[in-house]
Amino acid sequence: MSSAEIIDGKAYAAALRARVADAVATLKASHGLTPALTVIIVGDDPASHVYVRNKGTQTEEAGMVSATHRLPAETPEAVLLALIEKLNADKACHGILVQLPLPKHIDESKVLAAIQPDKDVDGFHVINVGRLWTGQDALVPCTPFGCLMLLKARVGDLWGKRAIVIGRSNIVGKPMAALLLAESCTVTIAHSRTKDLPERCREADIVVAAVGRPEMVKGDWIKQGAVVIDVGINRVPAPEKGDGKSKLVGDVNFEEAAKVAGAITPVPGGVGPMTIACLLRNTVVAACRQNGIDAPEL
Ligand code: NDP
Repeated sequence: MSSAEIIDGKAYAAALRARVADAVATLKASHGLTPALTVIIVGDDPASHVYVRNKGTQTEEAGMVSATHRLPAETPEAVLLALIEKLNADKACHGILVQLPLPKHIDESKVLAAIQPDKDVDGFHVINVGRLWTGQDALVPCTPFGCLMLLKARVGDLWGKRAIVIGRSNIVGKPMAALLLAESCTVTIAHSRTKDLPERCREADIVVAAVGRPEMVKGDWIKQGAVVIDVGINRVPAPEKGDGKSKLVGDVNFEEAAKVAGAITPVPGGVGPMTIACLLRNTVVAACRQNGIDAPEL
């Protein structure tokens, strides 16, 4: 029996996409500006191609211009850097996203550093990282930004809450911690060397799990009434569905945690759908800033 409210990320993401589409329509009508997102993918990882296709479709559905460059796996680093340079200089391109991971012969940090910070809609450029941590207007990584939106929609003011972020990656854990700190939470960042993790978790009003380990966070790690945001996406065998079948689970044991938490995101259907919706939002913000227009609240 679950007592927690299930946070419906699909519904929140649909509402955010609708607000983005309204903002795009207004920008077109009042400024003649159509935000445009360019995605670059190198190589042929099937999951990444599905993800990039979804990004393109949702960008167009929001009324924006979508372009995708699909480059072969053996593309030299210099060719990728030259394409980024061209897009940096193109006034009609407002957002540039390089799908990760990149093939091993390409230096990821060099590529991310080549993107003009104001077009860096993934928020991975060190300038945006620095802006985020110093409280300046930044383009913020999409997944943690989506988590924050879900948290604020459920909790309201986060001021003074005790939060734990499990995971310290540059993509999720660290920016999540920065966002919670900026909301005046008292933040613990946990990782693989953290001692007494269950105890640290039980102290938290907000638990964000971004670990990549299926159902690692147990029900008895969660404080009664806490809000649990599960970022993890893990594919595990599901023999109950038939031979060779699999299913997606998060980093939190949902069944257990839902009995204790006040609210929890499911996997799938929680954080996942927010990521692309936040990418669309970032593209609108980037387009506005590049054109000296006040970005709408989204
Ligand atoms: P990374 O592998 O980059 O980072 C994982 C983090 O978890 C590391 O900081 C690691 O610590 C920590 N960790 C690993 N094992 C433990 C442990 N036993 N106890 C405590 N901490 C541990 O992963 P990402 O941040 O990129 O992704 C995390 C999860 O989120 C994945 O499941 C991924 O698929 C998912 N994800 C979902 C997205 C979405 O759209 N919903 C988007 C991005 C990611 P250390 O630093 O010490 O090694």
